Amino acid sequence: MKPTIVLVGRPNVGKSTLFNRLTRTRDALVADQPGLTRDRHYGIGRVGERDYLVVDTAGFDPVAKDGIMHEMARQAEQAIAEADVLLFLVDGRAGRTPHDEQIAARLRRAGRPVHLVVNKAEGLERALVSADFHALGFGAPLPVSAAHGDGIKQLVELVLAPF
Ligand code: GDP
Ligand code: MG
Repeated sequence: MKPTIVLVGRPNVGKSTLFNRLTRTRDALVADQPGLTRDRHYGIGRVGERDYLVVDTAGFDPVAKDGIMHEMARQAEQAIAEADVLLFLVDGRAGRTPHDEQIAARLRRAGRPVHLVVNKAEGLERALVSADFHALGFGAPLPVSAAHGDGIKQLVELVLAPF
């Protein structure tokens, strides 16, 4: 079985950019299933001989009660249930936000390993970014730049190590 890596985080932190980066292999397959809503995307990635499944979710608002935000939250809940490991993405340029705190509270109950990933970290002072996001309670954040490809290989190797 391929380990399933699920990307969660508020809108605009760079989940889809990271998804594309993680599934950009020579023989990447887009594994989206017809009938599933467009708010959950499946892809296959490979590092060395290891294949893994990646699930991208739309922006996640764990307190949304109705409408499109509620549907997105429902999709994210289903994705969490499918996860072997969760990547909780935050935006290093925006800094920690109340919405990040809400998502953190939900992920603490997920019963799955969570890695905190600070995206858009290119050119940022690592110690400052780390101090800000450390408060979310998932340990030292892993800085990456999904857009530039920095830190991606290290991230995948770390995340897949237990599988
Ligand atoms: P999503 O809503 O979480 O899926 O975020 P997207 O992947 O759509 O990205 C949101 C915005 O952030 C886009 O304008 C991306 O180009 C930008 N972005 C994504 N990754 C990076 C990054 O590593 N660095 C910077 N500076 N911008 C990024
Ligand atoms: Mg997206």
